[in-house]
Amino acid sequence: MSESDTINFGALKITLSKAIDSVTYTFEGDVDENFRHKDVPRVGAKQINFILENVNNFNSVGIREWVYLVRDLSALGSLCFKRCSVTMVDQINMVPDSLGNGVVESFYAPYACDEHGETSRLIMAKDHAKEISENIAPDMQCDHCKEKLVFDALEDAYFMFVSGKLSKAS
Ligand SMILES: [Zn+2]
Repeated sequence: MSESDTINFGALKITLSKAIDSVTYTFEGDVDENFRHKDVPRVGAKQINFILENVNNFNSVGIREWVYLVRDLSALGSLCFKRCSVTMVDQINMVPDSLGNGVVESFYAPYACDEHGETSRLIMAKDHAKEISENIAPDMQCDHCKEKLVFDALEDAYFMFVSGKLSKAS
């Protein structure tokens, strides 16, 4: 049995779904001055998931609100960040408090093919724990020409958030 609620803040939509022993907050859009953390229900559960693949831009007001929400939820369960967008990863690297007590289970990373341009790849943290803990981008290949993709950000900066924050959950 599960139920879900949607909360809208300007260009941000949050969907909250509850299951037996977990709760999932899905964020889509921009985390900006329209986001008010106080209007988001705090639902405790053994595992509190965040689905973040469609998070776009943050601004300074939005990130402050975000940190308050994550701090409160950290007291109610174990936070697990899933499918973090590239902008979400950038934000976590700039403001480590963005994770609260949480771990990153999976995240997108930017890559490029000389021939076929920019792309991104979903990385499961536990599958590539050693490489990313050493700030090395996992090898990925182009869908079109099968050539090795070039990592399209600064490895030292992009994987910074990983230190001590790797998800051990499956
Ligand atoms: Zn290619």
